[in-house]
Amino acid sequence: MADIEYWVYVDVPTKRILLHKSTCGACRGGTGMHGHQQPGVCWWQGPFTSRRDAWRYAESEGNRRGRAPRACGLCRP
Ligand SMILES: [Zn+2]
Repeated sequence: MADIEYWVYVDVPTKRILLHKSTCGACRGGTGMHGHQQPGVCWWQGPFTSRRDAWRYAESEGNRRGRAPRACGLCRP
């Protein structure tokens, strides 16, 4: 099995930015959760091979949107 990868989900309307592992049930390698993606509104960003890189992206989005990113409570990345 490949190493764990990381994905960030960004939802602009709710200002929700969540870091996940690719194996998370809500993520599923960037195809899970909410079931929809809309450019500029909500999307998965990834995969990132390091948690630090993923978190850096999450923080940059968080700074832009005035909301701190969070780590998923299910997969605890
Ligand atoms: Zn997760």
